[in-house]
Amino acid sequence: MTADIKEIKNFYGEAFQILNPKREVPEIEVEFYPYIGINNTIRVRSGKIFVRLAELCQTAPLEVQKALAFILIAKLLRKKVPPSASQIYRFYIKSQEIQFRAKENKRAKGRKVITTSRGEIYDLEEIFVRINSIYFKNSIQKPTLTWSARKTFRILGHHDSTHETIVISKSLDDKRVPPYVVEFIVFHEMLHVYHPTLQRDGRHYNHTPQFRRDEKKFAHYETAESWIEQNAKNFKVKSKKAKVKS
Ligand SMILES: [Zn+2]
Repeated sequence: MTADIKEIKNFYGEAFQILNPKREVPEIEVEFYPYIGINNTIRVRSGKIFVRLAELCQTAPLEVQKALAFILIAKLLRKKVPPSASQIYRFYIKSQEIQFRAKENKRAKGRKVITTSRGEIYDLEEIFVRINSIYFKNSIQKPTLTWSARKTFRILGHHDSTHETIVISKSLDDKRVPPYVVEFIVFHEMLHVYHPTLQRDGRHYNHTPQFRRDEKKFAHYETAESWIEQNAKNFKVKSKKAKVKS
């Protein structure tokens, strides 16, 4: 049985209450993120807790979700992680890793590795080469470029520095999406390669002022931003409807 996001969110509230009973539970937002590996993050911004869970954890059973909630909240509050929680989580991750390796072995024995940079409409590699030459004097070393497995609508792109991978949301591989929008998202993720994350006082800064300044150098910056703003919602609704019909 897999958990839905609402149930998962409740676990975070519950964990907070148990680990820090004196404080009122703040607003909590939980979302899945197309991290390539198993990578879960928690942070506080303007008094609100933001949790990002790896998409790989989306299929984890309820008790694992709950254990993970306790682990992340404990980390956030600098409290001791309940041993039962880390045990449940570790056991699950181990079993997933074994499964994953088994699948990889099968794939390696079978056919060639499938690259997913070529979408139905857009080819990420081609876009990368073009953007690299126009904006970076070809200075960005080519990372792994891939479309996400799922159509994520809120997260359009992601740069994973650990695995040197740029993931672009499959939702953009669509003829209704103008090329400059896909290019802009790729450009944004390439800027993350160009401006590595700054760490200061134990915090991570991804979008530094320098990053934001460079981002505006994109030729269609404003058009792309406003397209995303205006269409992201629409687009999601349309796709959902389309799915229901078919
Ligand atoms: Zn970014």
